[in-house]
Amino acid sequence: MKKLVIATGNAHKTGEFCSVLGASWEVSDLSGIPNSEQPVEDGDSFIANALIKARAAAARFPDCHILADDSGLEVDALGGAPGIFSARFAGENASDAANRHLLVQKLTTEHPEARPFTARFRCALVLILPGATSQPKVFEGTVEGQILDCESGDGGFGYDPVFQPDGYAETFGTLNEEVKNTISHRARALEPLLAYLEKEG
Ligand code: IMP
Repeated sequence: MKKLVIATGNAHKTGEFCSVLGASWEVSDLSGIPNSEQPVEDGDSFIANALIKARAAAARFPDCHILADDSGLEVDALGGAPGIFSARFAGENASDAANRHLLVQKLTTEHPEARPFTARFRCALVLILPGATSQPKVFEGTVEGQILDCESGDGGFGYDPVFQPDGYAETFGTLNEEVKNTISHRARALEPLLAYLEKEG
């Protein structure tokens, strides 16, 4: 079986990747590696940050396929924020609940006229094949939707309970996870990546 290291410590992301990847990969992630040994994500875009994570993981696991993801939420009324700062919108080490609370509070009090609060999740994936000479390949995916005034559901993670994807009457927090794993930004970025692996990997 081919070995794939997912360059994340986020168990939710690993679970979502595994459900799309299927059983033909021996998958591991970085959950056992201390934060202090993780690279600083100081890129100015999702792609730049995904490249930082992928290159650090490739140096540590040179014999494995490496998959790195950087993702986040862009809200139009906030000029694209929180964007690459999605994980720390309410401050360094902020909880998902605190980030969601700040987001909804900002939108409803500072931009009430902007309803519906259109937004999208964006995901950049970087794939590095085993071997020192392998060049990183970049794949991207988005899912459009809107931010609701109230949270709904406790499925998923991050902003899922306040994000309602276009074409659905529920948030990612209440939608069946199989549905999320079909239409999400990560699933959409994975599609061309899997097609590439089929041909090249
Ligand atoms: P990253 O781990 O540096 O890529 O940060 C991603 C952040 O974006 C997460 O902490 C979440 O706040 C948000 N995010 C990314 N993908 C999702 C998703 O699928 N659902 C909800 N929030 C997400």
